[in-house]
Amino acid sequence: MVRQDLYRHCTALMESADIPDSDFDTMCIFQDVLKDKLPMMLPFMTVDADKEAAILEMVDKRISGIPLQYILGEWEFWGLPIKVGEGVLIPRPDTETLIEDILKIAEKSGMTSPKIADLCSGSGCIALALKSELPSADVYAVELSEKALAYLKENVELNKADITVIHGDVLSAATAENLTELDIIASNPPYLTAQDMDELQVEVQKEPETALFGGNDGLDFYRAMTPIWRKSLKTGGYLCYEFGMGQEKDIEKIMIENKFTDIKFSRDGGGIIRTVTAKKTEV
Ligand code: GLN
Repeated sequence: MVRQDLYRHCTALMESADIPDSDFDTMCIFQDVLKDKLPMMLPFMTVDADKEAAILEMVDKRISGIPLQYILGEWEFWGLPIKVGEGVLIPRPDTETLIEDILKIAEKSGMTSPKIADLCSGSGCIALALKSELPSADVYAVELSEKALAYLKENVELNKADITVIHGDVLSAATAENLTELDIIASNPPYLTAQDMDELQVEVQKEPETALFGGNDGLDFYRAMTPIWRKSLKTGGYLCYEFGMGQEKDIEKIMIENKFTDIKFSRDGGGIIRTVTAKKTEV
């Protein structure tokens, strides 16, 4: 088949299976298999049989509800290539808000080589983005899941980043005790509620529950991590979280209860209040 016909066939297959972004997904699959950034510039070029088979297999997977990012095996975050697959959360553009917040803090506070920990690091996207922008920062990425850890290590290598990967539980005080004098703590912990988990999109159901479910009200990690990790921050250091839609009041309460000051929120690209940054001003 020529590219144009195969393209139409693929989008039609996806559309009849109610896949919402059939054009986008087909284009990404074409780019990946044909190793061509603009595959439709040559619409009448014949697609080799093995490539056609590979494309159709990927379309089948997509129709079965597997996220596009897992099928491609790699996704971009902050302009960096990030390997993803079953067992690791796919980086979301919302999380770039957290990176922007932290870069502003580093600049405003004149932190030239801050010591940074990324907790619940998953694919490592946050740690890698921060290290790419702050090359002299001392960056640590903490992850508990063995499956995610394998991706985290692979991504650190792929991006040739000098980041220390720690296999550990962020809810254990022992992990925090081994990582002290931090200038910045960044985290996108699991924050979906029990109700959110019941209403997950098919694609998100394929992502690890351990990266998504934050207990009944979604706040278990914030409640547990905030007092434990406060001790690991320097005075003048910042705790920076991503959280879910509508959780800002509860998050603010947790920050105040733990004596944080300068509590500030930011909105993501979709206009949703998505992140908090807060300063530790007293010991
Ligand atoms: N942003 C993810 C979602 O909405 C949730 C990630 C998380 O719980 N940290 O599916």
